[in-house]
Amino acid sequence: MGTRTVLRGGVVLSMDPTVGDFDRGDVLVEDGAIVAVGRDLPTSDADVLDCTGKIVLPGFVNTHHHMFQTALRSYWADALDIDYFLQSRAGDEALFHQYTPEDVYWGEFGGALENLSAGTTTVVDTSQCSYTPEHTDAALDGIRRAGIRSVFSLSPVFGDHEPDPRYAHPDDIHRILAAESGLIRPALGYHVDEDLFRLARDLDVPMFAHVNDGNWGRVLEEFETDGLLGPAITYIHCLGLADSSWQAIERTGGKVSVSCIAEQTLAMGRPALQSALDRRLPVGFGTDAVSIAPVDFFSQMRAAYTLQRGAVDDSRTPVSTRDILHMATLGGAQAAHLDHLVGSLTPGKRADVIVLNARALNAGPLLHAPGTVLHMDTGNVETVLVDGRIVKADGRLVDVDVNGVLDALAKSAEGLLRRSGARSILLTSCRAS
Ligand SMILES: [Zn+2]
Repeated sequence: MGTRTVLRGGVVLSMDPTVGDFDRGDVLVEDGAIVAVGRDLPTSDADVLDCTGKIVLPGFVNTHHHMFQTALRSYWADALDIDYFLQSRAGDEALFHQYTPEDVYWGEFGGALENLSAGTTTVVDTSQCSYTPEHTDAALDGIRRAGIRSVFSLSPVFGDHEPDPRYAHPDDIHRILAAESGLIRPALGYHVDEDLFRLARDLDVPMFAHVNDGNWGRVLEEFETDGLLGPAITYIHCLGLADSSWQAIERTGGKVSVSCIAEQTLAMGRPALQSALDRRLPVGFGTDAVSIAPVDFFSQMRAAYTLQRGAVDDSRTPVSTRDILHMATLGGAQAAHLDHLVGSLTPGKRADVIVLNARALNAGPLLHAPGTVLHMDTGNVETVLVDGRIVKADGRLVDVDVNGVLDALAKSAEGLLRRSGARSILLTSCRAS
């Protein structure tokens, strides 16, 4: 493929109102950037990707993930939040404490590939496994090798909201900031911690903070008084917040990330999507960990859509499928602090683009593009570009030994479970006594 490529003749949902949509349009990509979107673009010298019968849109943006957990897939699918927190991190035997840098690497690499294959081109990865700088480097290696765009939200302290001195490496952010470039943007996380908020503010890096309940919302209000809140902060979950806490977020330009499936699976409360929408806050979807919930965005979008439509009353305009697509793309990019680069098919932005096959039994005939996207699944994700590079073509990841990755993840899972002394739950449940 040359440096100029045209995605030709697809149904284009640009997600940019100034660019508009096209029932048959072209997207021209040059040197990794989108240079034009329109009908019948003059592109005689460009490589052509025929998108007839396909839907072309920006890649999805996942604003909350913990990819290191990929080897623990579905382990906590039955968990309530107390099960998850106790089994994952309480005590030296807990599963998270068994992670070696190699486990982190395979989790991040496999998780990034899974996201790419599902059409998610940007992921905010909160590294709750940065026990040592070597663990952090392994995470970054896995992300880098997969070729996904990422905000790496370094969590330099770890514990159940109480910093664990064994894992405290706040200075590591300086090393990462000095070394990182390309598709990975450093940030800080993961909870409402004064030192972390102060560090993020002083370094001018984004902060991704888990706000799991109203008590942490009250702490945010105190932080506002101390000048620690600002537009570079994304608040994850935001469950059960008081109006005064929402007002603190709104006044200071905060962004919101909701994880509809994981939050409801863990019975943490009703997702805060409506509260964010009422205040017109930028809001994106997150998946949280694949140990709890699926991380494909078709599942996420349907979960959010049905959650909102299930609560429709006469006082509000119901969300539309296009509203949901906005949150999955541009809204997510805003919540990831990357909307100047991605989230819409806008000339000048980087070419993170997905092509969805609508010539399929679950998608044809194509009558309503946004609705059809919400009714698709990962099997419709045919082509994926990140920064103009094709990472998935003809429905397959390019140059990836998928079976090799699966074998490495299975080996990692076996080691994690064995070292923690966890029992097999293949045919039972994490809640079985
Ligand atoms: Zn999380």
